[in-house]
Formats: sequence, C-alpha cells, structure tokens
Amino acid sequence: MKCNICEFRCDIQDSKFGFCGMYENKNGQIVERFKNAYLFINPISIETQPMLHFFPNHKFLQLGSLGCNFKCEGCVSNVFVKHADVFKDALRILSAEEIVQKALKENCKGIVFGINEPTMQYFSLLDLAKKAKESKLLFGISTNLYYTKDALEELIKYLDFVNVGLKGYTQATYKKFCKALSSKPVFRNIVYLFRNNVYFEVSIPHVKGNEVELANAAKFLSKLSRQIPMQVMRFVPFDSASAELEPSISESEKLAEELKQYLDYVYLLNSPGTKHLHTTLDKFSIKRCFYGPMGAHIISTTGKPSHIIGNICKKDFEEDGFFGGYRLTRAIEMVVGILNALGVKDKKTITFVIGTILKDKNFLAFFHETQDGENTNLENYFDVVNLLAKISNTDPSKLINFYSEILEDVKQKRKNIEKKLKSYYVMGTPIFALNTHRFENKLASFAGLETIKLIKEGKPGVNITHEELITYNPDIVFISGFISCKEEDFYAYCQTHNINIHAGKTKKVFRLPFGWDFGTVEWIFGLMFIANAAYPHIYNFDIERKYYLFNNKSYTQANKSFYAHIV
Ligand code: SF4
Repeated sequence: MKCNICEFRCDIQDSKFGFCGMYENKNGQIVERFKNAYLFINPISIETQPMLHFFPNHKFLQLGSLGCNFKCEGCVSNVFVKHADVFKDALRILSAEEIVQKALKENCKGIVFGINEPTMQYFSLLDLAKKAKESKLLFGISTNLYYTKDALEELIKYLDFVNVGLKGYTQATYKKFCKALSSKPVFRNIVYLFRNNVYFEVSIPHVKGNEVELANAAKFLSKLSRQIPMQVMRFVPFDSASAELEPSISESEKLAEELKQYLDYVYLLNSPGTKHLHTTLDKFSIKRCFYGPMGAHIISTTGKPSHIIGNICKKDFEEDGFFGGYRLTRAIEMVVGILNALGVKDKKTITFVIGTILKDKNFLAFFHETQDGENTNLENYFDVVNLLAKISNTDPSKLINFYSEILEDVKQKRKNIEKKLKSYYVMGTPIFALNTHRFENKLASFAGLETIKLIKEGKPGVNITHEELITYNPDIVFISGFISCKEEDFYAYCQTHNINIHAGKTKKVFRLPFGWDFGTVEWIFGLMFIANAAYPHIYNFDIERKYYLFNNKSYTQANKSFYAHIV
C-alpha cells in the first residue's frame, strides 16, 4: 500500500509503518499513528513560530506532536522527533472542535502547528484546519514542505500561512543532512504555494560553509518575488551536531547583508543583539529582539507598511515561563538531563515523568522560576531535583550532596573576598545582557560577584546600548555557554565600536563551556569555573577532578569528556 503524503512515497506492508514511523498500513488503509494527539497546546506570539510579517504580535495557539519524515542532525526538536516511543504516553488526545474552542477561549487569532513536522499529523490537521476556518480562525504550519503535490493541494485549501523550513538548496544537501531523496519537491511546492496565493515565509539554516546554498535559495525565491521574507537561522548545534558547524554572529550578519541583493527582507535568528531582526523602511519600523531559539519578539513599531499581512497587535503577549516557540524543547532536555543524573535511564520512567510535568503547569512554572526568578537562588534547584526524584521514585541525596558540598565550599571561601568585582553576563554578543535574575547571574552572584541590575528584561535578556555598557564598565565578563561567542569576537566588537571597558583592558572575558550554566545538571561546574576565573587567589577548584567524580567514570573517559566541554 502506497503512502502518498510525502515524497518518500513509502510502500507499506500490512501492519507495518512507513519510513517516518508515523503512518501504518491497517487493513489496506494508511492511518496516522497518533491521530488528534498533541504534546504541546499553548498560546504563543507568532514571532516565536517564527512568522515576522504576518499579523505581528498576535497570539496563536501553538500545537506540536511527535515525529518527522526528515532526520536532520542538530534539529532543535530532535528530543521529540527522535524519541517518539519515549514521549508517546505523554500525548493528549483532543478533537478538532476541542482545540478550536481552546483557541477561541484564549483569544487567539489562529492556530499554528510547529515543533515537529506537521506532515506527521496530516489527517488530524486537515480536520482541524477545516474546523478553524468555520470558526474564522487563521490556520498555519511550520513545515519542511516535503508533501506530495496531491497532499499539498488538499491542505492548501485551508492554509492561511506557512513557514517553509528549507534545509539548503541542492539535492546533495537534502540527502546528506536530512536523509531526504531530493530538494526538488520542496522548491516545486514553494512555487505551488506562491501561485495559489498562500502566504509564506522561508527559514533556512546558516551552517558554516553552506553560504552558497543560501545564496542559491535566495536567488530562486527572488524569481518569484523579492518580497518573500527569508529568515536565516544561525545554526546552533542542538542534539549531537558538531560545534564546528556553528558560524559566529558576525559571520551570519555578513551573509544576511549579502542576501539582501536578492531579497528585500532578510532576517537573522538565533543571534542575540543583531540589528538584522529589525524591519526599517522610510516611515516605518518594527524593532525586534532575540527571544530564545528560533524566536523573535517585537520591542517597538512605527507605522504600518503595505507588505505586512494583517494588523499589528498593540497588546504585548508574553508567554509564561518556558512556553513560546521552541523554548520548551530546551526545558524538557534539561529535565531529562536531571533524570539521567538521578540514575533514571529507562524509557518508561522518563515517559511517566515527562507526561506528569507536561500536564502540571506548576512544575514548569516553578522550574522556570528557579532559572529566571527574582525570588529564587541556587539552592532552589534542589527543589526541582527533589520533585523529579519524587515523581520518578529515585533517591536524590547523592546528587544533592554533590552540589551542597561545593556550594558550602564557595560560601566559606567567598568570605575572603575583600572587594567584589563587577561582573557582566552576555549571550552571543557584548550588547545582549542576560536578565539580572537569570541562572547565569545567580552563579556569578553566588561566587561573590556584583551583577548588573537591568531596568528592563526579556527572554533571556535584552539589548543594551554601547553607552550603557561603557557606563556599567564591568571588571569581568562571562559569555554564556549556549548561543555563545568566542572571547576574541567579544574583544573585536568592543574595539570596532570603541567600547572601552575594564574587563576588555585587563583581558578578563571568559566563555563558559557548553552546558555549564543555564539549567543543566552541570551548572555546578559553571559555578566553579566562574569562581576560579574571578578570584583565582581565593578559589582554586580542581574542576577536572570534580568532573570525574560527578560522572563516576574511569579517569581516561572523564578526561576525554571533560576536554570535550572546554575545548
Ligand atoms: S509520510 Fe512520508 S515517510 Fe511517512 S509513511 Fe508517508 S510517505 Fe513514508
């Protein structure tokens, strides 16, 4: 029996599944594995999807489920895409009518399916899109657009908007990075959307070395219209992807600038502090800032240009805690990390815990509070560990004792600090300051450093001006291990923009190893790293030794793994 939903066109034997594992041949019929089943159902602002020219600032109900027909290395959603068996019991069944009612109750402008690939829920989404139309809700998807022409033809009758997630341009790239058969169907479908007046924006990753692919994709789009917005996703190595593939923000900015010779609206995502997220025309501007992986957030608007579809919502909508775009995928990864550190490795328990916390918004709200809350401190992380230990029926004492001993050691030693240094914690660029109460700043504060007091905050921080940075004049700077930049890029930016700060003159800018600050179980190493860097005469942690103890592996393995973090 042939499945004609996507261009793999699998031939599926009776009672077997196709290549994606999401469609089964049941008695001669192709049926969806998880019909009307969703892992995420939350209101978001449309810029976190991201859609940048479509009903700006409006609230949409975002849905996500499990599975994908592509196998891309480093995908932000791999935690849900690769591990459908782990998370399937956490799915919630909701009819199309129930989802529409929820969207209306939440005052959403429409419904959008993202996080995982919508091709995997084709029949459910057809029903839902029809119901959404009846209720005058907008309906859209974020997709790799690998649909067959027939499947897309049926779906576009109900589609108002699409974010097309390109992976590159050539057949070779699609084969190598996504295990797809060809790139041709995707570009054929783009033309089809265009000719049928379905509004779409295009996103495409900038991986080091694939610049020509982006230029060719931009040239292709420009033949349809220069006005098609292109979102360049600076590649951030999620999952098992190599860190070598990540371009610096300045490299991606240069590319975004070059692509403007083909397209009028080229934006740069995953790049805190960049000006390439703004739309600036003669009498009009929309200023946006970085808002977590793949997301943006409007900070100001002037006027309303003709190329924007729909009105700009004046009321600002901020998602709760970890919600909004792809941020929740990070939260779940962190929870799985804690469970692993507690010794939980079996799928059944992990599924049970994830299912429990996804249903319990209090847990996620509390977890977020420990990461970015005004009234929490490092010790509140123990509460998160204790809660997860309780749900998974494990003993947290070994992990908590490990943390506690080091925290106690820091507490004793910091009494010897005579004058606190002024610290500044950034993400990706010198002008993107992490929130005052975010976990990274809690680490710096615990180590005995003074931290910046921001008057406005964002997710995970805000752009500050050069003047504000010069006035603050930090003694020491830390660069986040996630969405990072090299120390030399920090110095170069300051030199180019005449930012003379004490930390620059004394060469006290330090980049945290990946995974050692925000929220992961290994934050304790970030604390020791910060302490050693700030006050080497007071702290002298043997981090390598501690890392070995933490992982409880043979010394050789620990060394290897340790250096993988710091190189
Ligand atoms: S959706 Fe695509 S990959 Fe999945 S079974 Fe159908 S043809 Fe195969």
